[in-house]
Amino acid sequence: MPNTCSHLEAITTIKHPKRLECEECVKVGSAWVHLRTCQHCGATLCCDSSPNRHASKHARVSGHPVIASAEPGERWLYCYPDDAFVEY
Ligand SMILES: [Zn+2]
Ligand SMILES: [Zn+2]
Ligand SMILES: [Zn+2]
Repeated sequence: MPNTCSHLEAITTIKHPKRLECEECVKVGSAWVHLRTCQHCGATLCCDSSPNRHASKHARVSGHPVIASAEPGERWLYCYPDDAFVEY
């Protein structure tokens, strides 16, 4: 299985988090583990190790496939529907 997909290939500019917090967890007062930024709309949401898994929920509900890690020092993109990962 090649580690690429059309969604990742279409990304030319990486969207970075505006704030280092999960915007959905902040609303409900929950905690998160790691942060991911949606590369379609720029929403910063929590990872699958977090209790609420807002980033993967967002991908499923909105159909936005690609997220980038919002963690300082991490430089990678991930596509949910293709389970494809790329470092940049
Ligand atoms: Zn893809
Ligand atoms: Zn969250
Ligand atoms: Zn989005």
